[in-house]
Amino acid sequence: MAERSLRGRSIGAKSLESENGVPLADRKKIVYVCPKGHRTIVPFAAQATVPTTWFCHCGLTCVQEDRQGDPLEGGKAKRSHYDMLLERRTEKELQELLARKIEEHEMGGLSDYD
Ligand SMILES: [Zn+2]
Repeated sequence: MAERSLRGRSIGAKSLESENGVPLADRKKIVYVCPKGHRTIVPFAAQATVPTTWFCHCGLTCVQEDRQGDPLEGGKAKRSHYDMLLERRTEKELQELLARKIEEHEMGGLSDYD
């Protein structure tokens, strides 16, 4: 019994099965890009149906790189930089900010971004 045990092998160690002679399935790599510009490359089997969107590590939904101009599933259009800005500030806030910045500029200096 002792001679047959696999001493020194940890759980999760490499499989004892060999991959020699096992043909790998043909693959294709699909590149997805999120609105922040992160690229995610996902390998799929050549015959697999590829999803049009994927999830980026930043939490946003990314679309296939060569389909970036297409609207996203569910009719949700791709967000522009202005769309993202409007998620953080209202147009009224932006007008107030612009007026304050113009005033500061005319007074001779701009403060840091706020
Ligand atoms: Zn991202």
